[in-house]
Amino acid sequence: MKRKLIRVVVGVLLMAVAIGCTVGVAASKKELPPVMGRDGWCVHDMNRPRPAVITPGARPGDAPSDAIVLFDGKDGSQWAPSKDGNRKMWKVANGYLEAVKGSKHLATKQSFGSCQLHIEWATPKVVVGDGQKRGNSGIYFMGLYEFQVLDSYDNITYADGQAAAIYGQNPPMVNVCRGPGKWQTYDIIFHRPVFKGGKMVKPATLTAFHNGVLVQYNWAYYGPTKHRTDTEYVPHADKLPIKLQDHGNPARYRNIWIREL
Ligand code: MG
Repeated sequence: MKRKLIRVVVGVLLMAVAIGCTVGVAASKKELPPVMGRDGWCVHDMNRPRPAVITPGARPGDAPSDAIVLFDGKDGSQWAPSKDGNRKMWKVANGYLEAVKGSKHLATKQSFGSCQLHIEWATPKVVVGDGQKRGNSGIYFMGLYEFQVLDSYDNITYADGQAAAIYGQNPPMVNVCRGPGKWQTYDIIFHRPVFKGGKMVKPATLTAFHNGVLVQYNWAYYGPTKHRTDTEYVPHADKLPIKLQDHGNPARYRNIWIREL
């Protein structure tokens, strides 16, 4: 029985050597037999590639070293008026980008698919209008899937259109909006939809934190977001520009950075 056990252990060790598995765990002076994981790597395999080393931002919310900085407070060159707008550039001043009425969307020059996005925004300090007319803007991933920006501080509107809503589809879990004029943060993980043979096989999903609080968790978009319209997916490119919405209110944005996933 003992001999049989020894043969099994030796056999497993030889198999591990054969597949190049180096296990980084040793019990005192004895090497433990490798344990095959479910993903093709041995558990604790020292040959498994380690993640890239990056430098975090100096303060929470600052861009890490592998991010693409889309707006640093001064340089608006990563953005351009969207082709479906009237070609008016947004205002760049005092450390922020500000929506210009009538410009429609502002778009990134670069196209993106799945990504992690950090963006800071503020609605006008002086309150004008109410409901959807108060500090309305939005972030359109791939130019199609809106994540709402609105002054939702003591401002009643439909739940699926308040700040941090998937516009027209899903309200945020909580309303954690700061008051008018105050800077707020969104940290968003967006996954693009996947199409095969002209059909959607995986919907776009979004997870988001508003001012550090989880407000959307892995929400699967029904399709592109639109006002008072139920939509369906129409196949599109894997990467498209991100757009910021001009809804007639001078919403402001700063410290925008993105990591492609
Ligand atoms: Mg909007």
